[in-house]
Amino acid sequence: MSDKGFNPFEMAQAQFDSVADTLGLEQSVRDLLRNPLREYQFSIPVRMDDGTVKVFRGFRIQHNDARGPCKGGIRFHPAETVDTVRALSMWMTWKCAVVDIPLGGGKGGVVCDPHNLSNREEEQICRGWVRQLARNVGPLSDVPAPDVMTSAQHMLWMLDEYEHIHGAHYPGFITGKPYGMGGSLGRTEATGYGVVYTIREALKELDIDPNNTTASIQGFGNVAQYAIELYERIGGKAICVSCWDQNDQKSYSFVKKDGINLEELRGITDRFGGIDKTKAKELNYEILDGDVWIEQDVDILIPCALENQITGENVHKISKNVKIIAEGANGPTTPEADQEIKERGIYIIPDFLANAGGVTCSYFEQVQSNMNYFWEKDDVLSRLDLKMTSAFIAVSDLARKQKLYMRDAAYVIAIDRVATASRDRGWV
Ligand code: GLU
Repeated sequence: MSDKGFNPFEMAQAQFDSVADTLGLEQSVRDLLRNPLREYQFSIPVRMDDGTVKVFRGFRIQHNDARGPCKGGIRFHPAETVDTVRALSMWMTWKCAVVDIPLGGGKGGVVCDPHNLSNREEEQICRGWVRQLARNVGPLSDVPAPDVMTSAQHMLWMLDEYEHIHGAHYPGFITGKPYGMGGSLGRTEATGYGVVYTIREALKELDIDPNNTTASIQGFGNVAQYAIELYERIGGKAICVSCWDQNDQKSYSFVKKDGINLEELRGITDRFGGIDKTKAKELNYEILDGDVWIEQDVDILIPCALENQITGENVHKISKNVKIIAEGANGPTTPEADQEIKERGIYIIPDFLANAGGVTCSYFEQVQSNMNYFWEKDDVLSRLDLKMTSAFIAVSDLARKQKLYMRDAAYVIAIDRVATASRDRGWV
């Protein structure tokens, strides 16, 4: 997940430290917030389809719950590390705070590669993860959700295991469940759509008509696909997407200067967002190696893959015409690259604001699950739009008034809210 030398937790702590200075936070608050409250690391033994037993490493990290139960996804990835999960749990705390939902931050993971697992093996990993944590997570303490390479099906297996252990129904234990099994309409679209609600607002602020814009997107998983769907609906044209190729163990970019066809590409993509190169070639996509998505001469860049993607090495490749970077992924930009983006005056919509649509809709799902009454899709999406838009406006107003970089403004709002909750509870 992380390149050599790149440590996402150190990056998250450095971002925190710098805003703690801006806010003049007292030492006790810094000590509390720059580290997670609780960490669980454990083994999950699974009998594989060939009869052997394999032991997988699992994590759950609860960064802070001063504002409400911890909240955040579970990732399945072969390169998952404890520091990645620590960083992501901290970013979840800021994410829930910046959109002002009553939740804290947590994150989980399992070191595994679903590309090489059967359904039954994945189910066993899900159930094993819950068995290890059944007493430390729950609707009132820590509520998991999907993330990289986990889906609604994984959430349902986890819910089922949790309910078996506790002997009753607890639909508020987990979010991102399938619709009809306690899931919310709109949850699948929520993260990608949320990214575009913030892009729409940024375009308004920059006085740019979305109809005249183009975008290049890194990734073609759930977030990217729905971001493209809504971006096209507001008039934009996506001309490049990239994806990881499992066979070649590298990434490729798929370019069509007159606009990619989302439905056509979806039809030749696997459940991990991997696009079939042979079929894409037949459909006349130009297929290129490496970081090409970042070099496109577009107005908007939307990284929707993993952390550590816009780095000191490739930031100079960003075209001079790029006006907005909307971070659909968590932690895609390293501090070195961030500094250059800031100096160049590119408008950044920071990750924990841009991609907060997923967790905001998870919060709506929890509310619906807890009251056992489900809303219409339009209702969910209009509430989501309202939440994302007001969070965006609060951050951009602060950035303008105090002449702050958008990332710093978002941090100031989020950290201040969590620090206040921690002080008000008498923790620090
Ligand atoms: N995994 C998503 C994120 O990073 C969603 C978390 C959630 O819904 O709790 O924001």
